[in-house]
Amino acid sequence: MSAQRIDGKAIAENLRGRIGAAVGALEKAHGKTPGLAVVLVGEDAASQVYVRNKGIATKEAGMTSLEFRLPADTPEAVLLDKVRTLNADAAVNGILVQFPVPDQISQQRVIDTIDPAKDVDGLNPLNAGRLVSGLDALTPCTPLGSVILAKETLKDLTGKHAVVIGRSNLVGKPVAQLLLKENCTVTMAHSRTADLPAICRSADILVAAVGIPEIVKGDWVKPGACVIDVGINRIDAPEKGEGKTRLVGDVDFAAAEAVAAHITPVPGGVGPMTIACLLRNTLTAFCRQNGFVEVEV
Ligand code: NAD
Repeated sequence: MSAQRIDGKAIAENLRGRIGAAVGALEKAHGKTPGLAVVLVGEDAASQVYVRNKGIATKEAGMTSLEFRLPADTPEAVLLDKVRTLNADAAVNGILVQFPVPDQISQQRVIDTIDPAKDVDGLNPLNAGRLVSGLDALTPCTPLGSVILAKETLKDLTGKHAVVIGRSNLVGKPVAQLLLKENCTVTMAHSRTADLPAICRSADILVAAVGIPEIVKGDWVKPGACVIDVGINRIDAPEKGEGKTRLVGDVDFAAAEAVAAHITPVPGGVGPMTIACLLRNTLTAFCRQNGFVEVEV
């Protein structure tokens, strides 16, 4: 058996199209468009690519994109002031500070300073707490995208045993909460879990968010499972030539593909969903801040 590849790129494009249509309709009705502010501190190459791609996607969805680039030696107080200014700006509905930030800045203080209503990354403790409590919350983008992929593939997740490997605030914990909301029975595994392969083998839905290339082997996957690989790892690829690299996930794709029923590739699986969900959160924040009926996309 060879698993069906879950086409995250196509599902994300579809979602972005629906978001763009909703933004157009809201502009027609109210004469306003959502505004997303992205703040980048320093020159990190990967972060620059992410920020550029977010800006392009924001504009393509008909939203206003505001970009602020601060030097790498920006003091924490200056960045926090910038965030407070954006909190107070009515034209800004979503704020994203690109992580990682340089060492002189506390990531947690940045997260704590962003207005929870504009926290489109869903990392502020108020949003994290609301998610756990089953209340409306802005939810971290990658977890949201991962669970949308599982739902698009399996439709009803009720009663499925989901195993989530990784317990970060950014991915593992919110993925587990979202799966719980979908009526899954959720097991959280992590670096101290005993007999990880056996636990993984009991999963109908296996979500890997570890950051270790291909840690999940083919014989960790239950036949017929749905595998969502969140990992993005760059490894050497001498077969492509000297000094070349390639991206792999946390799952040994070729081996898992032979066992699973559905699997996300890396790249082209969860990755594209992250930006689509950022736009979705910005649309949600815009509607809530303006008292507009929330659009289901
Ligand atoms: P993290 O380092 O914060 O957390 C990793 C988690 O893995 C930890 O909770 C840890 O307990 C667990 N872990 C570590 N070693 C383990 C082991 N040997 N066995 C079992 N569990 C182990 O990482 P993160 O921010 O949660 O990201 C995880 C992965 O997802 C990374 O590869 C990251 O690049 C990727 N990621 C992708 C996207 C995307 O857009 N697709 C977004 C965010 C993160």
